[in-house]
Amino acid sequence: MTLSPSETARYRRHLTLPELGPAGQERLKCARVLVVGSGGLGSPASLYLAAAGIGTLGIVDGDRVEPSNLHRQVLFETVDIGRLKAEAARERLLAINPEITVVAHAFTLRASNARELIERYDIVLDGTDRLSTRYLVNDACVLLRKPLITAAIHRFEGQAMSYVPGRGPCYRCLFPQAVEAVGESCADAGVLGVLPGVLGLIQATEAIKLATGIGEPLIGRLLTYDALSLRFAELPVSRRRECPVCAEHPRITALEDTAEACAADAPLSVRRLSATALRRLLVEARRSGPGLVLIDVREPWEFDAGHLEGARNIPLGELRGRLDDLAGEGPPIFVCRSGRRSLTACAIALQAGMAAPAHLEGGLLEWVAAIDPRLRLVAG
Ligand SMILES: [Zn+2]
Repeated sequence: MTLSPSETARYRRHLTLPELGPAGQERLKCARVLVVGSGGLGSPASLYLAAAGIGTLGIVDGDRVEPSNLHRQVLFETVDIGRLKAEAARERLLAINPEITVVAHAFTLRASNARELIERYDIVLDGTDRLSTRYLVNDACVLLRKPLITAAIHRFEGQAMSYVPGRGPCYRCLFPQAVEAVGESCADAGVLGVLPGVLGLIQATEAIKLATGIGEPLIGRLLTYDALSLRFAELPVSRRRECPVCAEHPRITALEDTAEACAADAPLSVRRLSATALRRLLVEARRSGPGLVLIDVREPWEFDAGHLEGARNIPLGELRGRLDDLAGEGPPIFVCRSGRRSLTACAIALQAGMAAPAHLEGGLLEWVAAIDPRLRLVAG
């Protein structure tokens, strides 16, 4: 698929990038990207993907534009209020770039239509704010072996990760099942308008990289972003051997709709503590009143080699069965070596209905680097 003279003129700044060049731009032209949800994440992502020359861009969204969308959903104008988002998006994207094809799918993605729709695309970008849709998209992409770029936002925080079949963990490897009714709802929680812009453009960047094969995708790394401290962090994540959908013998082999739940409530209701923040809490707790519920979820032999003062050892594998031990105490703070197991521990605690679990971001490795180099860690 060669480029026309007008395309050559339009994409000149891409064509001069040696990593991309005409061959890369032609790959973008051949690419078929589905954007699920044209809200806060889907808006910036699809604007830039259209401008960048993704040949076929699908927008699936059954909602209509509401006034409260406009502070972050930059695809839409005030005059669009009341219009179907997919239709308004298509018009705007084609105005930016008439060289591409934009397909408006003005319906809600469900188990009954997901397979048929996703099959028609090469890459899926998940910009939904519904947790049920996020799991549905993940399962569909795993079953259909399609790359998926997922992101989530909540108040001032966001996270993103790419899934590529056979190359890394899927969303369920990280959070095996939906956590329902934790904390406030999406609408109540609020969101900083510029936040989804940052995450949506990270998703668009990933889509371009996956479509062209350049760079190193965000596979096996959960990227987190905190707008208030303006910090990015990365949590290494690996495939879960017993993942319900991407394991060798998965429990989920067909798509199904799950109950509606708010996407923002799940992983992001986990409190992430820096090593400095945890030390401050420990000092305060020592000075006054009841101690912290500090749970070290590493294996006993790792714990015995060295651990934080006051920490209790409950290996991750035993956590689900021993959560009752923690009932009636304050919100737990989980720690492990790298921050990966402790994040999973938070997910387990949330699933069990515990409010506001926290974990030490970067794990004890971060503690050793930032606070106390004398703490002895053995390989996990
Ligand atoms: Zn998985």
